[in-house]
Amino acid sequence: MNLLGLLGASLKHSFSPVMMNRLARQGDLPFAYFPFEIPAEKLPHFVEAVRLLPISGFNVTIPHKVAILSFLDELTPEVQAVGAVNTVLNRDGKLIGYNTDTAGFLGSVNRLFGKENPPRAALILGSGGAARAVLYTLLKSGTKTVFLSNRREERARKLAEDFGRLFPEKEIVPGPLKAAFLKQALARATLIVQTTSVGMWPHEEEELPFPFEALHPGHKVIDLIYNPEETRFLRDVRKRGAEALNGLPMLIGQAAKSLEIWGFPGLEANLLKIAGDLREKTTPQTLEEKC
Ligand code: NAP
Repeated sequence: MNLLGLLGASLKHSFSPVMMNRLARQGDLPFAYFPFEIPAEKLPHFVEAVRLLPISGFNVTIPHKVAILSFLDELTPEVQAVGAVNTVLNRDGKLIGYNTDTAGFLGSVNRLFGKENPPRAALILGSGGAARAVLYTLLKSGTKTVFLSNRREERARKLAEDFGRLFPEKEIVPGPLKAAFLKQALARATLIVQTTSVGMWPHEEEELPFPFEALHPGHKVIDLIYNPEETRFLRDVRKRGAEALNGLPMLIGQAAKSLEIWGFPGLEANLLKIAGDLREKTTPQTLEEKC
């Protein structure tokens, strides 16, 4: 039996243990998945315990995604670029940090554009942790130009600088979250990725200052939020005829990739089905925590 789990600080409403354990039961898979509620100051003790106990791996969520880096023995190139870990593999006491948000997001891009035709230019709304994973994935998978639009413009500039050093051949254009800059970006970008927390439960009515009139049916949109299923932003872009996905496929994609790293490949479709069943039976609050 493999012991797996989710490392976080407050996991009472987390959806992952329920989903992962149901997956194991239904597929007769040899793992159990525990919530590991660990406050920030106890993180070093938790890592020591993992090295001693037969824990095969764990997911990482708020507030440990960045802090855990310094306790690990090996980091993938994705982690080094994105600066956050959401999956750890314990290989005979050696702890390896991965970021599977990148694979999860790539799955959504491929659904919209096909594997062979990545968008040439994209617009990212937001410049927080999720935007870093999105930017890395786009630049790695063939997008040539990315516009970064953020409320605090200096964060977009900093992100552009960081990734400009890693990808000197690409064009990264930072700017404010304002209509004039967004219109300029929309004239070139075919993919728009909404990575801010605006519109997320319980603040569904919050609005972005987005020039919806500049959209056309050729634009494709991914909103990383999955709770609610359709944000106000998604509803408005769909009204303009843009094809759009919410954050659920990415969430499921990153969970499936974590399972693959732990030795359980090919479970994405099963996870999607279980997530669908659980959504029907849960309140918005129980879906609030990220898997
Ligand atoms: P974060 O690091 O805290 O970044 C939040 C971003 O939202 C920042 O760019 C921030 O702008 C912006 N923002 C917040 N309030 C705003 C407002 N009122 N107006 C304009 N911009 C605002 O958070 P994160 O980790 O990147 O997560 C962002 C979202 O992505 C969350 O909804 C999260 O659930 C979702 N997510 C989904 C997945 C998935 O698998 N689907 C994975 C990761 C994250 P400033 O810099 O100006 O503050």
